[in-house]
Amino acid sequence: MKIIAFVFLLFAMTLFSQKKETKLVDSVGYYIKQANFNTNRLYYKNGLINAQKAIDFSEKKNNPENKSKANATIGYIYFKLHKYNEAILSLKKSIKYFVPKKSLSEKASVYYLLGLCLMEIKNAKEAEYFFDKADVIYINANNSSAREMLNVQKGIVYKTKGNPELARAYFENILVNSEDEDDEFQVKSEALYQIGTIEYGLDRNSLALNYLNRALKVNLKRSNPEQKSRILHALSLVSEKLGDKTKSFNYLKNHLKIKDSIYNDINFKIEEDEYNQFKEIQQFKELNFRKRELEEKEKNSKFSKLISILAIALISILSLLSLSLYKNNIIRNRTNELLKQKNQELFEAKDKAEKAMQARSDFLSTVSHELRTPLNAITGITHLLIEENPKESQIEYLKSLKFSGNYLLTFINEILEANRIESNKIAVEYLNFNLKELIDNIKISLTEIALTNKNKINVEIDPEIPNVLNGDPTKIAQILINLINNGLKFTKNGTISINLKTESDDLETYKIKFLISDTGIGIPDNQIESIFESFSQGSIEINRTYGGTGLGLTIVKNLVEILGGKIQVESKVGQGSVFWFVIKFNKTKNELINIETKPIDLHKLEGKKILLVEDNKINQMITKKMLENKKVLCDIVDSGEDSIEFVKKNKYDLILMDVHLPGINGTTATEKIRKFNTKIPIIALTAISLDENRDSLLAFGMNDVLTKPFDPEEFYKIIAKYI
Ligand code: ADP
Repeated sequence: MKIIAFVFLLFAMTLFSQKKETKLVDSVGYYIKQANFNTNRLYYKNGLINAQKAIDFSEKKNNPENKSKANATIGYIYFKLHKYNEAILSLKKSIKYFVPKKSLSEKASVYYLLGLCLMEIKNAKEAEYFFDKADVIYINANNSSAREMLNVQKGIVYKTKGNPELARAYFENILVNSEDEDDEFQVKSEALYQIGTIEYGLDRNSLALNYLNRALKVNLKRSNPEQKSRILHALSLVSEKLGDKTKSFNYLKNHLKIKDSIYNDINFKIEEDEYNQFKEIQQFKELNFRKRELEEKEKNSKFSKLISILAIALISILSLLSLSLYKNNIIRNRTNELLKQKNQELFEAKDKAEKAMQARSDFLSTVSHELRTPLNAITGITHLLIEENPKESQIEYLKSLKFSGNYLLTFINEILEANRIESNKIAVEYLNFNLKELIDNIKISLTEIALTNKNKINVEIDPEIPNVLNGDPTKIAQILINLINNGLKFTKNGTISINLKTESDDLETYKIKFLISDTGIGIPDNQIESIFESFSQGSIEINRTYGGTGLGLTIVKNLVEILGGKIQVESKVGQGSVFWFVIKFNKTKNELINIETKPIDLHKLEGKKILLVEDNKINQMITKKMLENKKVLCDIVDSGEDSIEFVKKNKYDLILMDVHLPGINGTTATEKIRKFNTKIPIIALTAISLDENRDSLLAFGMNDVLTKPFDPEEFYKIIAKYI
């Protein structure tokens, strides 16, 4: 068996080296060539060294094809040295590095050699597997001589596996097919030998002897000592069975002789020590190689560890980032939600406050309106009664009735005014006016009140202050009258001074400091803080002694602030008080609008004709009476529609137009009258509530406004002014 293999391998390795002849350019190819050369000459040591070098180079270059070839070469040398286990390892490595383009015959040689090695260690099953792989290649290549050799091996496999019948069939097939060619002798003699041993196993010794003799005969045609040794051994056994002891002994002697020579042959070429030394070096190299591989792996694993750590860190950072973003988002949403809620609450609160304000305004408006109508009747009728020569004893009653009416009237007016200011319904007017004249008029109008407490009014105005300024004379007058009135009220036998000083003067504006001082009772320190609050009065005694509503200074303070100033006060009990504020005016070159406060001659009213438009019967009666007292002729209509007709048909000097009328109201009627008569003065009569204001009434074409209930003096004055 071994001889056949040997021959075949020579043939196979030739295939290897023949191919390499042309390709031998690199060191791996060179060492393989050297290894085969030495092995074929039985210089196994050199063969091994060269094969190992071929492996080292192929590993260094990491070329799979070369690795496969180098391992096949060393596997073959191990096989030759009967080191089957090492041979199997190397050949399996060679198979591992097979590349697709590798030649099929080379592959088949490696499979076949591996099969032989496996047979040697009695692993018939695995050997059959590799023989089959080789067979597939040979069938495709139509390589019959190679197949013959394979079939011998297959026969041996079946024989080993305990199927001598199948094995015999293979061998006999070889005997039929093989021709007497050189290579075929090896196959034929092997087949004969195998059949001989099968017959011997079946105890058909004569048949066995026959086959073995034929085998020996064929073997002798071609030197194969290994096969010859086996045939001789078998002949010795068969001869013994047949009782021919002498022949048996001779065969055995020859067999041992050949076997010894083979053994010596191998040992001669490579000593066991040398082989061991080679193996040690090889193992050391293998160890080094494994170490390097391990280091490489460690390096790689360190690198991949680093990458993993970095990736984990990155993922963690990203997760934390997303988490914080997510949390942020939640917090923001919550805050938004809270803000929305708060906003909603604020809106609701604002809405409520506005509604409350509106309700208060509406209430005040309604109450004051409802109060004014009967109050109008009271003051109006009182005035008429006083005018109609009452009895001496009645005069006192009528006077106190008049006082009470006036007090109520002031009170209502002040409440309304304070309310109007608070609900921001007051706008600043910018008119050209003469400030000095305004102050003079105020002084004149208060002279009578000053006499009551025997006070003097002193006016001192900085001569630098221009005559004509641009500002809001109505509000200035309101502020000054209030403050001077207070001074006159809380001072007896003293002086009330009105002092105007230049605070600053530039191209466009003029700032004036207004000081109103008195020599009256003064204000205690603990009260000075609260005098500007609504309904706050110094004390109950003060209220009893001096009267008042406690609203005057509240109105003053608010008006000063509307005009851009700030009211301030200093006072000493028993010595007097001084109130001051600074107001900025615009300079102007235009002519002024005259604020008429001079007393008017009422005689000019006599004989004039006035149309009174009023639906309330008491008011009709009082107003008519008041007009008739001044010898004014008076027509009365109680609707807006009628007034238009009357104006068209008659000639009047003036119209007194109530604003609130059934049907079309006073403003609409005025608008319609203005379409055909632009000249006739129309005075609005109204219990001005919060929503109405003077300006809006004037906008409908009215000339002036009289607030009910009328102060008779004011009533006559205004009518006289327009007639
Ligand atoms: P009243 O209508 O009661 O005068 P005011 O708001 O005008 O209301 O004044 C509030 C209080 O301030 C007064 O009751 C009074 O005690 C005090 N007061 C105001 N002006 C003077 C002043 N010139 N001298 C002394 N006390 C004053």
